[in-house]
Amino acid sequence: MNPAATLAFTLLVTFLGACDRAAPDRVNSPGPRVTRAEYGRLPDGVQVDGYTLTNKQGVTLQVITYGAIITSLRTADARGNFADIVLGFDSLDDYLHDPPYFGAVVGRYANRIARGRFTLDGSAYQLPVNNGPNSLHGGTRGFDKVVWRAESFESDSSSGVVLSYTSADGEMGYPGRLDVRVTYTLTDSNELLVDYFAATDKATPVNISQHSYFNLAGDAKRDILGHQLRLAASRFTPVDSTLIPTGELAPVEGTPFDFRTLTPIGARIGESHQQLIFGIGYDHNFVLDQDSSGLTHAAQVVDPESGRTLDIYTDQPGIQFYSGNFLDGTITGKGGRVYQHRYGFCLETQHFPDSPNHPAFPSTILRPGEEYESRTVFRFN
Ligand code: BGC
Repeated sequence: MNPAATLAFTLLVTFLGACDRAAPDRVNSPGPRVTRAEYGRLPDGVQVDGYTLTNKQGVTLQVITYGAIITSLRTADARGNFADIVLGFDSLDDYLHDPPYFGAVVGRYANRIARGRFTLDGSAYQLPVNNGPNSLHGGTRGFDKVVWRAESFESDSSSGVVLSYTSADGEMGYPGRLDVRVTYTLTDSNELLVDYFAATDKATPVNISQHSYFNLAGDAKRDILGHQLRLAASRFTPVDSTLIPTGELAPVEGTPFDFRTLTPIGARIGESHQQLIFGIGYDHNFVLDQDSSGLTHAAQVVDPESGRTLDIYTDQPGIQFYSGNFLDGTITGKGGRVYQHRYGFCLETQHFPDSPNHPAFPSTILRPGEEYESRTVFRFN
């Protein structure tokens, strides 16, 4: 983040922290803010840990070291009833059977690279193709399928966990050794800060995102079509039938992609717009109207029934809105809930898909000596 953004954000956190001091003490437990326990073991015996973060408003977040996955996030509805607002599983074993990136950190390159190919500084690279003809979310064994090192921390107003992973030179076809760090911080102001860091020893594309599926109803009890969405985006990147951007930045005005005011997700999803047909619903990158502070209020989601809201702030230029189109009732998740069609949505802050093949898009190339640093904030109410 640039210094202005950092200052604006610090002021926001300080202000919310001040509001907080007037709030009652932690409602659900006076216990530790962060705990660790073994979550499970991989078939080769490697241990996977789970970290549970609790804030003073009773919000809890569980993260595991496999895939840096957020397995659970419990927030209150308007009546103060807590429920889990992310999709996922109850056991490690279920996460090992290739679920569609529930809660995971995705990289080295979130979203698609056409035919898994790109050229960088005159060399051609081939990545594993794992989504039709394209490479999706870093390939067959991306950051969602590796075990991260973890260290927790806590302060007077927050707690968190720093997850680190070293991706070897050539892993999944990408050049350079990449040291990656993802820090989750849960604050007493009901914010989840996700901070990304990466450094490389050779030029490489980097685009890391968080792939939680949210359902603000809580415990995935109904579809998300009644949730209202606002996106700070006057343009989006239309795609071809394999969901690769055509390169155009198309205006949302007058299309079902105009979410500049709060609109139910389901209001126009069934329209016969070519892009909705290609996406089987919404599965598109929106070009954010970036705020000069550096941290854009990219998205707001309101579930009128539960009263829960989610606000997303980011320094990234884009956000992928995916309306859970491929959920089809074949996955049974936490507590035996069957994840039916559109029972979750993703809002993945990111650079535009396939940027390495679109010189006109903002660059995703990280070079030795540079630092990839990025922040996304999820705020719950
Ligand atoms: C993609 C979808 C994909 C989903 C799960 C999203 O980021 O845009 O097309 O189905 O991830 O893999």
